[in-house]
Amino acid sequence: MTAVPHAAARREHILKEAVRQGLLDPEQSPLAAFVDFDGVAATVRALHDAFPGAPELPGVTHTFAAKANCLGPVLRELERRGMGCEVATAGELARALAAGFPAGRIVFDSPAKTRAELERALSLGVTVNADSFQELERIAALLAVRPSASRIGVRLNCQVGGGSIAAMSTATNTSKFGVPLADPGNRERLLRAFAAYPWLTWVHTHTGSQGCPLDLMARGVAQAVEFAGQVTAAFGEGRVEGIDIGGGLPVNFADDEVTPTFADYVGQLRAHAPELFAGRYRVVTEFGRSVLAKNGFMAAYVEYTKSAGGRPIAVTHAGAQVATRTVFSPDAWPLRIEAYGPHGTAKEGRTVRQDIAGPACFAGDLLARDRALPPLAPGDLVVVPDTGAYYFSTPFHYNSLPEPAVHGVRTDAAGRVEFTLVRAAQDPWLLTDRDGVGEPLPAPAGAPAGRAR
Ligand SMILES: *Cc1c(COP(=O)(O)O)cnc(C)c1O
Repeated sequence: MTAVPHAAARREHILKEAVRQGLLDPEQSPLAAFVDFDGVAATVRALHDAFPGAPELPGVTHTFAAKANCLGPVLRELERRGMGCEVATAGELARALAAGFPAGRIVFDSPAKTRAELERALSLGVTVNADSFQELERIAALLAVRPSASRIGVRLNCQVGGGSIAAMSTATNTSKFGVPLADPGNRERLLRAFAAYPWLTWVHTHTGSQGCPLDLMARGVAQAVEFAGQVTAAFGEGRVEGIDIGGGLPVNFADDEVTPTFADYVGQLRAHAPELFAGRYRVVTEFGRSVLAKNGFMAAYVEYTKSAGGRPIAVTHAGAQVATRTVFSPDAWPLRIEAYGPHGTAKEGRTVRQDIAGPACFAGDLLARDRALPPLAPGDLVVVPDTGAYYFSTPFHYNSLPEPAVHGVRTDAAGRVEFTLVRAAQDPWLLTDRDGVGEPLPAPAGAPAGRAR
């Protein structure tokens, strides 16, 4: 159990500074997001500390799953902290390269890699995990023309079952990812692939994300380790150089406690897959949510309040555009909401049950329903913690809602808060050629002159 020291106090401190410095403003920037870079550094340290080194693990590379937060300054920070990067599309690969990750520390996982994408990855020396037998054949054809420095693995679906969120469960019997290990004939076919392809040297698995219990994840890894043992038995020691165990450590969205920890997971891996620690295999990990979620939050002003059918409703500027999963699937992705006054002081005392709504034009655009919070008033702020991964970093463009600014935060020993711009806010009045409307329109008189922050 690791409680983040004073996480709530830290959020309040950052919020007050953001209001004071004008990063949050009811007219100019009614919604903004924050990434706590000190918190990110501490999380990366905890990740590195949790996994043993030699002789148990002759080499460990922790990659960050870029889809969890693909913003350039975030990726650059993780690169500086010694992480690699797991990418699942050409766009994420481009971002990882632009952020400075060396090709040897990038892992390309996608079930739909085109020939051109594979060619690019192989020529750069990026690690490639093939998702299917067809992809292995395609890689073989490309390597016959031009050799590559890339490490190449094959993704296994260990078919150990799903967790509580179906969409996040990648090791069900019928998941779309990887080669299903228990399907008739597949083990033999995989062994034939290792016999035929000397360049195939890694085994990859990723059992699932949020909602998968730790022991399920560890049992998935155990299956991959067991298969690697079978390859070793057939073709000799060293034939499998390493095992990529994927990511998926769940995050606690209920309060500020960091649980489970990376160390908890390593304990489960030791229990279920002791062979992983026998000094035989290098290891790659691909954590996303557990690295960033608790190191980011959003803050939005309450624009109006009303009551409908006896239910108080606070209409805010944070909704489906930044909390897409929560809005469309509220039971699977509940988020905490905190109430603050206009200057960022936490509201206390009596609570009333109220809905926290977003700005989008559909009735389901709610961050929370029937939530007990101090009564909110126009001009108050709501904070949504635990949103550093898979929330504001990948906005949904419904209703032409603009992408909010994202600010990086560092705090020095004296408690001074320094903000850096991670992503500029989109200006809703600035249309681009990509919008297919030709020249940008001049803002009408009286419109805010660019939400440049
Ligand atoms: C999404 C994904 C991850 C990261 O999952 P988290 O739950 O964010 O840790 C890792 N590997 C693969 C292949 C993924 O698709």
